[in-house]
Amino acid sequence: MTAPALKAGYACSEGCGFTASLWDVVYRCPRCEGLLEVAHDEAALRAIPAAEWKRRFESRFATSRLPDGSGVWGKREWALPELPVEDIVSLGEGRVPLKPLPRMAAELGLGSLMLKECGVSPTGSFKDWGMTVLVSAVKHLRSRGTPIRAVACASTGDTSAALSAYAAAAGIPAVVFLPKNKVSLAQLVQPIANGARVLSLDTDFDGCMKLVQAVTADTGLYLANSMNSLRIEGQKMIAIELCQDLGWEPPDWIVIPGGNLGNASALGRGLDLLFNLGLITRRPRIAVAQAQRANPLARAFRGGFQDLVPMQAGATLASAIQIGNPVSFRRAVRMLRAFDGVVEEATESELANAAARADREGTFACPQTGVALAAVEKLAASGVMAKGASVAVVATAHGLKFADFKVGYHRETLSDVKAAHANPPVELPADLSAVREALKDLG
Ligand SMILES: *Cc1c(COP(=O)(O)O)cnc(C)c1O
Ligand SMILES: [Zn+2]
Repeated sequence: MTAPALKAGYACSEGCGFTASLWDVVYRCPRCEGLLEVAHDEAALRAIPAAEWKRRFESRFATSRLPDGSGVWGKREWALPELPVEDIVSLGEGRVPLKPLPRMAAELGLGSLMLKECGVSPTGSFKDWGMTVLVSAVKHLRSRGTPIRAVACASTGDTSAALSAYAAAAGIPAVVFLPKNKVSLAQLVQPIANGARVLSLDTDFDGCMKLVQAVTADTGLYLANSMNSLRIEGQKMIAIELCQDLGWEPPDWIVIPGGNLGNASALGRGLDLLFNLGLITRRPRIAVAQAQRANPLARAFRGGFQDLVPMQAGATLASAIQIGNPVSFRRAVRMLRAFDGVVEEATESELANAAARADREGTFACPQTGVALAAVEKLAASGVMAKGASVAVVATAHGLKFADFKVGYHRETLSDVKAAHANPPVELPADLSAVREALKDLG
């Protein structure tokens, strides 16, 4: 007996019944304007027992050779099962550490606190997990003769870095729309280095998003924002790999920073698949963390999840989640309802201090991860997270992309931040007794 072939296609995520082939260029449901999702043939997936999936994934995980050694393509049957292997564009994304923070966990009364270090990645953020899937699909589309001249995205910095790198690897031109002066220097230089056409626009992310949607509607430019559900199929592997790290035993809580809310939605999709296929038997709870200055989901949560009220996002150190009109709002609300979820928010001081606190335990947390860590502090203090709970935080970028944030924190020059852990360098003459004096109090 041979197992049934694995198939996937687009379906409307609002349930109106629209379906399309994955090799059609379509981003939204033409009937109801809803976002699409990649629908897998779950019956065919279920025909393979959970133990066999685990064995297959573990054996690929053991190699560093690509594409099996990719955290995404090592599980390719769950991403794009019909994509020919020769069209995979992998830079070695995923397969990242789950780093314990035992001191912070003990101080907060938690059983464990862990960082899933998604920024330990080719371009330094979790965006690589989704972009490898999208760019591989575009490579396949072009090989089938679909007229795509270039890929394009609007970005708060990390999406454009990821798109530019994967497009460069695939030999596909890339165009990125960035809000002028609202991304870090490292984020700006990445697409420049990878040869993308970089448009620096005098607006914010939401303004860039409007323009890229308009320009991709009627030319051969392919839209690479997270509205595009191909990216979600890669990003959902974060949840899957996290459970794999823990011996297929989910933590009590998973905490994730949210901007456009694609990643939060992807987390739910990964966990749903694990649960439906029997690889995990318990559903964790999920907390989405937002910057207080860009908190449309937190506001909606407090109002019992009435409709989204788009807002003008205020300037926040967590610039990658400075988004006032999140495209995946409805997906995220459905996810939160399914995972008994909560939404928490963090001020500038809270996010900066939480990141600095985690740094003292050997990490180098980006400001968005700081938002998530601040949410953990608040949810543990308020008792929403029970004493002894196990908590995993999706750390979304490498702190080295936000060096100016770190420098400002330790120089105490960030506005609206009272730095509790500032550790400025000690300026000294090159003099032995002065050096001895400065080290006297070390234990
Ligand atoms: C994109 C991004 C986020 C937010 O992800 P969404 O899918 O937009 O919610 C969080 N942190 C970092 C570092 C990011 O680049
Ligand atoms: Zn629809």
